[in-house]
Amino acid sequence: MVIVLHPSTTPENLEELKNELLKSDCKVCPTYGEFQIILGVVGSTQQINRDKVLNKKYVEKILSVQEPYKMANRMFHPENTVINVGNESIGGTKIALIAGPCSVESEEQIVDIARKVKEAGAGFLRGGAYKPRTSPYSFQGMKEEGLELLKIARQETGLPIVSELMSASELDKFIDSVDIIQIGARNMQNFDLLKAIGQTNKPILLKRGLSATFEELLMSAEYIMSEGNEQVILCERGIRTFETYTRNTLDLSAVLALKRLSHLPVIIDPSHAAGKWWMVEALSKAAVAVGADGLIIEVHNDPANASCDGKQSITPDRFAALVDPLRRIAEIDDRTI
Ligand code: PEP
Ligand code: MN
Repeated sequence: MVIVLHPSTTPENLEELKNELLKSDCKVCPTYGEFQIILGVVGSTQQINRDKVLNKKYVEKILSVQEPYKMANRMFHPENTVINVGNESIGGTKIALIAGPCSVESEEQIVDIARKVKEAGAGFLRGGAYKPRTSPYSFQGMKEEGLELLKIARQETGLPIVSELMSASELDKFIDSVDIIQIGARNMQNFDLLKAIGQTNKPILLKRGLSATFEELLMSAEYIMSEGNEQVILCERGIRTFETYTRNTLDLSAVLALKRLSHLPVIIDPSHAAGKWWMVEALSKAAVAVGADGLIIEVHNDPANASCDGKQSITPDRFAALVDPLRRIAEIDDRTI
């Protein structure tokens, strides 16, 4: 349920209304917009005495939220959510560039790539320490040591770190080491993991499952938000279709649909979508043109010998050459990089 209040509502009015609503088994999420105050209410909203609420002079209207996702719903929060990470942000007019290798392989590798992508204009460093591999015989990541190397790269460059968490048993280490916790496509519906990260105050980069609908993705975001963590970034990374030429099929309409349905930032991962490095630059430009809030791009200094996903990784030089065209596309919509 969404309760729209008059702009003249006083803090005392708000307190009175909240106390009334909390008599039911509900949670109240206020949003202070430029022209109105909105109270999103979740829980047993059927217990609320609607007439009593509507009788208050400062209550403009009550709206029912039909969709099963509530806190992630744009009705709850009409303005875009902007997530601040250090000096960077995701969801505002500045497009977030997250770049780095699929997995951390050595100190020299991660520090070298971090320096180069920073110099090119990236705002964040990605790097997997725990890797979800299809085969148990493939490289599984450097694990704890990988997290330590990411911290060195952050110290060297100042870039905030994005890394994938696969199990709640590693959560404490991630809270100490990373700036944004990535939940991979394969874990999008690992509900216990979603609940665990919902109890932290780390921004979460939530990737769309291999064959998840927008509603399923938003319900996964809702799992995180309903535990108290509202800092969720949605990521389209390609979905399974009948096409096998590309690794996945990049669904650019996800940006438009998700931004209409939700206030959360939406970013694009062209690397895992295409699976081919030579498609990454054009798909990145398309993603910015369609309104994505950011890009997460795999960049490797030696793609041919990468431990993971070399075929879809671009070199630091190619990444650097891509930033200016992206900036020019962003300017069309009065955005920056
Ligand atoms: C990754 O980012 O390296 C990754 C494994 O992504 P996804 O979960 O989208 O496959
Ligand atoms: Mn990868």
